[in-house]
Amino acid sequence: RAKSSADPGYRIFDEDIRKALFARRRIETGLAAAVETKDLEIWFQPIVDLSASQICTYEALARWRQPDGSFIAPDQFIPVAEETGLIEQIGLLALERGLEAMRDWPEGTRLSLNTSPRQFGKGVLVPAVAAALERHGTPAARIELEITENLLINSGPEVFEDLDALAALGVGLVLDDFGMGYSSLNRLHRYRFNGLKIDRAFIQRMEEDETSAAIVSAIAGLARCIGMHCTAEGVETQAQLDLVHKAGCGRAQGYLLGRPGPHASAQPTA
Ligand code: C2E
Ligand code: MG
Ligand code: MG
Ligand code: MG
Repeated sequence: RAKSSADPGYRIFDEDIRKALFARRRIETGLAAAVETKDLEIWFQPIVDLSASQICTYEALARWRQPDGSFIAPDQFIPVAEETGLIEQIGLLALERGLEAMRDWPEGTRLSLNTSPRQFGKGVLVPAVAAALERHGTPAARIELEITENLLINSGPEVFEDLDALAALGVGLVLDDFGMGYSSLNRLHRYRFNGLKIDRAFIQRMEEDETSAAIVSAIAGLARCIGMHCTAEGVETQAQLDLVHKAGCGRAQGYLLGRPGPHASAQPTA
């Protein structure tokens, strides 16, 4: 749609782009510095085993501390980090900080780490994970890597070689945000995962929407049939917790059970 520069709408649009580019540059340069300093923090959110009613895992989640003490959420900087490649360093930072933090956790509690597709197929991830486990004396079975479905789309054999090598080390592999990507079932067929996490979009619709509840039950049943564990993400209410338990999810994560925090939290009472 052509607009003359005399049209005020056009100038506003220009100004918006300028502001967005400026904000983005600030994120890029600031984030690189934050990774070097301690301003990029790694927080932990519990995942609860519903049959044992206890925390089985903590998921590591990045938080960027600002000079005023507030935090920028990952939604704002992870996409930038993905584009610039900084996500590779953030991944290694989460691994290192996570393994350090684990020393204070109860025996058997696992660490779950988010990964970016950019970390795979470069010959860096597998040796870095192996070396970090060795250095901390942590058994590989105590960590899980969360992978999103888009890793498996259009990826070459080197990505699958990394997944195989991680599985051979004994590291758990979990599909994150399950249900939000394309042809999810085909992905399950192509690669054998240890578990999946059902995206919170489904969980949060369960109360009002019978279809979402049926989808969650079906995914949980499928996971059980092929020997995968199944985590419900984003559980915020007792009603949702009851529904995901009834649907057959063995694990749950969400604000009801514990928010992300700078230290692994105590046992939930829910
Ligand atoms: P994710 O891996 O799906 O992590 C779950 C997100 O849901 C987290 O958001 C968590 O704080 C949020 N959440 C947990 N329970 C609830 C709930 O009950 N209600 C609601 N509304 N939200 C809940 P967060 O920490 O903002 O992270 C967003 C995404 O950023 C993560 O989604 C993950 O994909 C990515 N991310 C975070 N840290 C890292 C990292 O170190 N590396 C990589 N590659 N990605 C990361
Ligand atoms: Mg995750
Ligand atoms: Mg998720
Ligand atoms: Mg998510």
